[in-house]
Amino acid sequence: MTERLRRHRRTKIIATLGPASATPEMILLLFQAGADVFRLNFSHGKHDEHAEKIEMIRAIEKKTGRPIGILADVQGPKLRVGIFQAGRVQLQAGQQLTLDMNPLPGDIRRVCLPHPEIIAAAEIGATLLLDDGKLRLRVLRKRDDHLLTEVLNGGVLSDRKGVNVPDVVLPIPALTAKDRADLAFVLPLGIDYIGLSFVQRPEDVDEAKILAAGRAAVMVKMEKPQALDNLDAILDRADAVMVARGDLGVELPPEEVPIAQKRILRAAQQRGMPVVVATQMLESMISSPAPTRAEASDVANAVFDGADAVMLSAESAAGQYPREAVNMMDRIIARVERDADWRLGLDAKRPQPEKISADAIAAASVQVAHTIGAQAIVALTESGSTALRVAREKPDCPIIGLTTSLAVARRLAAVWGVHAVVSETVYSMTEAVEHALMVAWQEGFARKGEEIIVVAGVPFGRPGTTNALQVARL
Ligand code: PGA
Ligand code: MN
Repeated sequence: MTERLRRHRRTKIIATLGPASATPEMILLLFQAGADVFRLNFSHGKHDEHAEKIEMIRAIEKKTGRPIGILADVQGPKLRVGIFQAGRVQLQAGQQLTLDMNPLPGDIRRVCLPHPEIIAAAEIGATLLLDDGKLRLRVLRKRDDHLLTEVLNGGVLSDRKGVNVPDVVLPIPALTAKDRADLAFVLPLGIDYIGLSFVQRPEDVDEAKILAAGRAAVMVKMEKPQALDNLDAILDRADAVMVARGDLGVELPPEEVPIAQKRILRAAQQRGMPVVVATQMLESMISSPAPTRAEASDVANAVFDGADAVMLSAESAAGQYPREAVNMMDRIIARVERDADWRLGLDAKRPQPEKISADAIAAASVQVAHTIGAQAIVALTESGSTALRVAREKPDCPIIGLTTSLAVARRLAAVWGVHAVVSETVYSMTEAVEHALMVAWQEGFARKGEEIIVVAGVPFGRPGTTNALQVARL
């Protein structure tokens, strides 16, 4: 029997699929190069195209026997201007531009802003950022149906460019009608995470969770300053979080983004919640086979900080080098994880266990594993929560997440250090240990004579009861 595929690194890789990577051959290559989770971006693509990608991913999962996560990232309330008579205008600093609700094509003096909520919510003096912040407007005057603005930073503005309003909490939910339709379509197909864009308030998360109805976990994308103000309340309700640096970096000054990134990482790690660092990680690899030094350093630093996963967007979705980009992330992660400082840093930043038995056992399992040099910690995990509590401790050995649920195994694909395996139900600790030894051996984690740690909740099948730890020798 050939050894089943296992990764020799802890930090996971998420690769976005798009025109450059939507064939079964390419998805398989990306998986083999190291992608643990695939992201479908619902800002682009038709429903049947996303359905095809899901089918292709599930076929690879079958073929390789490894659970693969799918993140369905919905667009959210991405605001856009309307169109122009000439397709574009050149705006000069100091000139005035009216944003109104008239759908007729715009010109140098006015353009449609088909979002009455922004017109209602914008205050005089508020800043509007257009086209990823390349152009800036300031609100001079406000009427029921239009805003008169002054151009602060000019430039070319073309059809349907994005609008960001960093100063304003918009009275709009994170899920638009399009998002609801997209989720109604994709949830029955079997996805693992919903990417919730432009979250502003804790209630946004509740809405998504109700829609998901347990069929997918909710990953909140931190891309609004308002969400940072509500960070704790939002994370309390979410299952996972993404540092969405693309839009966050439009709404915040650049120097604030690294600080926000570290703050989000810390808050998520404290909770034992998966956290993803995303956007522009290897941006230059969209058109170049090698990253810049700064990009390599960016990926490395996310790994040093203990991110669960690093993400590729256009690099793997629309770039010329999707496979090389995944391969480069894999190499950077593996290199950092061989460095002694990486381990020291994780040990130093380990959060205090919470006063619950699951954390006591998780912390103890890591201690015992380190003391005896165990090959793996095998967590029997029905809901995934035991595996998450062990992952929160960032042990020096791999974590095998043994679960009877394929859905849970797929979600664990995004989690730091966890190699998930779908297994049969066990009824006693003796059976659990036997089973754990067999899986650790089959999956290539332990050989004869080597030791593993088994953690479980006894009696079995009742979630939230992690209370048992055993050392076992193969
Ligand atoms: P997006 O989200 O790629 O869907 O815009 C990520 C980000 O803004 O960083
Ligand atoms: Mn975004």
